[in-house]
Amino acid sequence: MLTLDRAAQTAQSYIHRVLEDVEKRNPGEAEFQQAVKEILESLVPVFAKHPEYEKLGILERLIEPERLVVFRVPWVDDEGKVQVNRGFRVQFNSAIGPYKGGIRFHPSVNASIIKFLGFEQIFKNALTGLPIGGGKGGSDFDPKGKSDGEIMRFVQSFTSELSRYIGPDQDVPAGDIGVGAREIGYMFGQYKKMRGAYEAGVLTGKSPGFGGSLARKEATGYGLVYFMEEMLKAHGLQFEGMSVVVSGSGNVSIYAMEKVLELGGKVVACSDSSGVIYDPQGISLETVKQLKEVDNQRIGAYINTHPHAELIEDCEQIWSVPCDIALPCATQNEISETQAQQLVANGVIAVGEGANMPSTLEAVKVFEQHDILFAPAKAANAGGVGVSALEMAQNSARLSWTFEEVDGQLKQMMQSIYRQCTETAEEYGHSGNLMAGANIAGFRKVADAMIAQGVI
Ligand code: NDP
Repeated sequence: MLTLDRAAQTAQSYIHRVLEDVEKRNPGEAEFQQAVKEILESLVPVFAKHPEYEKLGILERLIEPERLVVFRVPWVDDEGKVQVNRGFRVQFNSAIGPYKGGIRFHPSVNASIIKFLGFEQIFKNALTGLPIGGGKGGSDFDPKGKSDGEIMRFVQSFTSELSRYIGPDQDVPAGDIGVGAREIGYMFGQYKKMRGAYEAGVLTGKSPGFGGSLARKEATGYGLVYFMEEMLKAHGLQFEGMSVVVSGSGNVSIYAMEKVLELGGKVVACSDSSGVIYDPQGISLETVKQLKEVDNQRIGAYINTHPHAELIEDCEQIWSVPCDIALPCATQNEISETQAQQLVANGVIAVGEGANMPSTLEAVKVFEQHDILFAPAKAANAGGVGVSALEMAQNSARLSWTFEEVDGQLKQMMQSIYRQCTETAEEYGHSGNLMAGANIAGFRKVADAMIAQGVI
């Protein structure tokens, strides 16, 4: 016992040294530092058991991206004026496969956000059990209020530069915030034109008409709910009869809501960055889909057809709506410590992260202290990238699988990820802590591949 304690102490001080170094070497990158801290702190038991990892510099290598590309994206708006945005692609780790991770278009995008997303992606992708490394990209371009022509010209300029770095066996981007099938379509067209070749597997999230996988659109939201279903089942619970709050009303939120409703849950609130809709009778998904997928409207328009519902014009208020299950599906750090306390005070039983890093480190502690069932993003939202990897497999084989086939594989994948997380947490003395389980299981897989491939 004494030796184990000493080993744990040694591991802890080593990890703290690495974390201090991360702060020094990445000044001002708060999101990246937060993501690294969350993972590294849960690796103490791994380094206590495997001190050899320190000598091999696994952590020092993992926290440094293999490559970060930053580039100029000039484009012409509808008035004929030249606009300039900044583009990013981080290729973080290719130990277990080509870099894989989405592209985000949002004005908040910067190197810190892209690096945090790319870093998390390494471990998430490892958990899927499929051969994909970690990457992420994006731009500070704001798609809101832009015409279709402006979106197309921007995407073409962005892709002209990005195409130098991507390829079906090199780096395979997909969608994320602000990037859906339309943007992926324009990226694919531009990439094809520049390469002079039809390389379907260079991008995922394509329309099913030209190599996209059925069920990719639904995958992240459905996958989140499949993961939650496993977690609830293990505690004798189910979605049936539960009241659920889902933040956001984009791709992940809409399909999480769809699956919750199918399983008998009741969604009472959803949001966008302009506000929250609270509908005690249960949110009409049909209306949300019409507003968001067809009419490109703000969520507030919901009350035009559902006057009994309430519009709260502050998106942060979503966590004050009482619920049994909270599914943050909008953006990073959307649940603060205070908001977590509010959820707990209102009786929340389970929290499932559909967005990437939606809970701050302090919020996660609140959930832990109150024994709230907690499904961490890295595991719970891995269904999207998992089905993207299935899209790559279909493209390589020049086949397309049915919706049911892909959905069935997605469900199995989420069940397997849940098992990996619980078993690993148990093995390393953190029984029931799925965040520790996810971090350790993902890390071990990547670390072992890095060791086998030598110092590169
Ligand atoms: P979308 O762009 O489709 O939707 C994002 C939604 O979140 C929009 O409704 C947006 O509202 C809302 N939103 C953004 N910021 C806020 C905020 N501060 N408060 C309330 N709502 C907000 O993106 P996705 O659904 O694809 O992505 C959502 C999250 O899921 C991201 O964290 C992403 O990284 C993660 N994710 C996505 C995957 C995917 O397959 N798409 C895979 C894994 C993770 P508005 O339109 O007003 O900005």
